[in-house]
Amino acid sequence: METLYRSTRETASHTMTSSQAVLQGLTPDGGLFVPVELPRADFDFDQLATMSYQEVAYEVLKLFFTDYTPAELHACIDAAYGDQFDDPAIAPVKKHGEPYYLELFHGPTIAFKDLALQILPHLMTTAAKKNQLTSEVVILTATSGDTGKAAMAGFADVPQTKIIVFYPKDGVSAIQKQQMITQAGANTYVVAINGNFDEAQTKVKELLNDPDLHAQLAANQFQFSSANSINIGRLFPQVAYYVYAYAQLIKQGQIHNGDEVNFSVPTGNFGDILAGYYAKQLGTPIQKLVCASNRNNVLTDFFNTGTYNKNREFFLTSSPSMDILVSSNLERLVFYLTGSDPVATAKLMSDLKSTGHYTLTPTMRAMVKDFWAGFVTENQDQKAIQHVYKAHHYTIDPHTAVATAVATQYREATKDKRPMVIVSTASPYKFPQAVLRAITGHPVDVDGLAAVDQLHDLIQTPIPATVENLRQATVKHDQVTDPATMGTTIKTILKLR
Ligand SMILES: *Cc1c(COP(=O)(O)O)cnc(C)c1O
Repeated sequence: METLYRSTRETASHTMTSSQAVLQGLTPDGGLFVPVELPRADFDFDQLATMSYQEVAYEVLKLFFTDYTPAELHACIDAAYGDQFDDPAIAPVKKHGEPYYLELFHGPTIAFKDLALQILPHLMTTAAKKNQLTSEVVILTATSGDTGKAAMAGFADVPQTKIIVFYPKDGVSAIQKQQMITQAGANTYVVAINGNFDEAQTKVKELLNDPDLHAQLAANQFQFSSANSINIGRLFPQVAYYVYAYAQLIKQGQIHNGDEVNFSVPTGNFGDILAGYYAKQLGTPIQKLVCASNRNNVLTDFFNTGTYNKNREFFLTSSPSMDILVSSNLERLVFYLTGSDPVATAKLMSDLKSTGHYTLTPTMRAMVKDFWAGFVTENQDQKAIQHVYKAHHYTIDPHTAVATAVATQYREATKDKRPMVIVSTASPYKFPQAVLRAITGHPVDVDGLAAVDQLHDLIQTPIPATVENLRQATVKHDQVTDPATMGTTIKTILKLR
């Protein structure tokens, strides 16, 4: 059955194929693409348990990307999940203490976004060929630290593409910043902005939908797309690791086929956890998706009160990739909660835009039972890193620690004894200063590579090659701009006439 895509904000009269939706990124009306009908999967988990990551990914992707041929999908998967990952399992599942850790940081930028952004460029260039696109695709991305680098690692020197990344100047870790400003590739552009992630993301969304800019791009043989997690070419590849993790637990003899498990997900833009929601809809036996937040706990309040309110103080935390007040992908969940009603969805999203908040109806609230939400303070986050290290000699990064600590809250609050999988989104070497501080229990005055070396002396696990390479890397990008002038910056970069 063909899976077609529609907007969350418009009646389903306009549909697109998966490859067209990948190229477009965002729908013309500012909504997000969702499948017109959810694909039907009948996963045989005993069989999936015998499969490699790549094979499982194929079983998942073929449900969502139905206008790609099997050969095209296999080629995309093979190119994406190869030896750029430093673990042949791609997404290994490991037990440390009670929970299981689904390690999603073995790719080229040591954060989970590689799982999606290694494949997106291949899905996109294949889509460009399929749709006889002659213009060059310009990827416009706002990043809270990890997306930008992972997107550039995926798109660097990919023919017929350019990628422009905006990051909050003071909102990313030293290693994240170093990774971005040293990015190679003749088609990559990195710009710091004097503002936070939400400002960057809001502006990027606005520019992606600016008709004048579109016309100017078209006249210059360019077309915009997005590598943010709103793109279905990023969202749906993430479904694969939930399915894979479940199958691996069977393979390891930890569960029997059919047993329910929970996942705890460190959440920012709601892309990762939404992929888990799709995995559940496709029949993966998931009981709860635990939505774990840091002090920017807008989602905790949303799930616990039914009101989403972004009018609140914004905090910079040691888990910067979750420092977000407007979670883009939540719109897709809201769409499902309205019973797939585009008019109701558009109304709530326009309330959000004009007033900064919206409230679910009681009927909608009753449908959020698949989720449980909690948040941690900086101190609790540090304690979780320290505890896991001391008790199990396993080092987790500050994002994974948020999920770990909230998983503990969940267990204490509900007494649910089902196996818990912590979605582990970054390597501790990406945030060495915060991890060192947590483990040693005192302030650390070094950062960047010096902190990496100190952390290595302490925990002794190998430093990932991508971090080692930063020692020799030269700075290639030093541009800074204000959110208001991002449009002009883009025009200058693309030399638009
Ligand atoms: C992006 C990111 C997250 C949040 O993922 P979302 O899909 O935005 O919810 C969590 N942890 C790390 C390390 C990330 O890079």
